[in-house]
Amino acid sequence: MSENNIALAVLDMAGTTVADGGLVLRAFDIAATSAGIETEGPQRASARQYVLDTMGQSKIAVFRALLGDEGRAQAANLAFEAAYDAVIDEVEISPIPGAAEAITALRTAGVKVALTTGFSRGTQDRLLNALGWNEIADLTLAPSDAGRGRPYPDMVLTALLRLDVDAVDQIAVLGDTTSDIASGLAAGARIVAGALTGAHDAAQLRAAGATHVVASVAEFAELILAGRT
Ligand SMILES: [Mg+2]
Repeated sequence: MSENNIALAVLDMAGTTVADGGLVLRAFDIAATSAGIETEGPQRASARQYVLDTMGQSKIAVFRALLGDEGRAQAANLAFEAAYDAVIDEVEISPIPGAAEAITALRTAGVKVALTTGFSRGTQDRLLNALGWNEIADLTLAPSDAGRGRPYPDMVLTALLRLDVDAVDQIAVLGDTTSDIASGLAAGARIVAGALTGAHDAAQLRAAGATHVVASVAEFAELILAGRT
């Protein structure tokens, strides 16, 4: 690729650097039931589709949109987190193959790495602990650390501020959902790439405006490092 001066890589967790065995949808089903969404039928089917379409966004924002009531949304979000925490030890949480090596290669080359999520801070920490990843990145951010979650640019821009990056055109963003792409474009990042290891396919990621679509985070790291001057 052409030359770039990428100084910061902002990487999504679930579906991009971390495989969580479908834990999000399992936890959502438990939360939806506790929020009073019928367990079968069109209401449940459309709620499930909405969760798939909005994967990557702040979970509390998804529940607000689905339930239309702050109290019910907060309760559903708590149920989601409790369910996620309850099953996190039952499923295999593992890095997407090559993810740890890609993060290390980027940092070794002088590219700062931030890991972002749509989960709450507590759930993100559970995930980082499960992977032994507490020290792997320069920064980890949940929506509440930044302001708003995706599709807003807040986490990307917070990473720039916290890590003293000079300009938005030195940022590369990678995620598996259209919301990741939207957040990277809104932040003005130079590279806004979609990874094919998660929720959305190449056509969806391209339609959202991805500048690149890569097989995985490993290919993303190669792309960044090959273009550095
Ligand atoms: Mg994701």
